[in-house]
Amino acid sequence: MKTPKPPIKIAIKDNNCCVKSPCPICGRIVDPDAGPQLFMADTWEPVCEECAEKHSPVIFNIWAKFQRRSSFARAFQDCRYDGDQYVHQPPEKP
Ligand SMILES: [Zn+2]
Repeated sequence: MKTPKPPIKIAIKDNNCCVKSPCPICGRIVDPDAGPQLFMADTWEPVCEECAEKHSPVIFNIWAKFQRRSSFARAFQDCRYDGDQYVHQPPEKP
């Protein structure tokens, strides 16, 4: 009888080293940004989005929601209250 492969566990970890490396599942190069990213649960190997979605859809969905919220937050930082409305006004480049 074949022993079943251990399940692939994927976790969201706060990335602070940004090392480009191959996804341990499919081998695709993953280049994670700083901040919460998808990793193998027991190591710091970054997992690509496709594998995370396939093997751990719940974790992937939480992460994807966070990504949308943080990009919304970034966009909102560039908004200024102008009279009675918010306008999008990115900071001027020095
Ligand atoms: Zn992968």
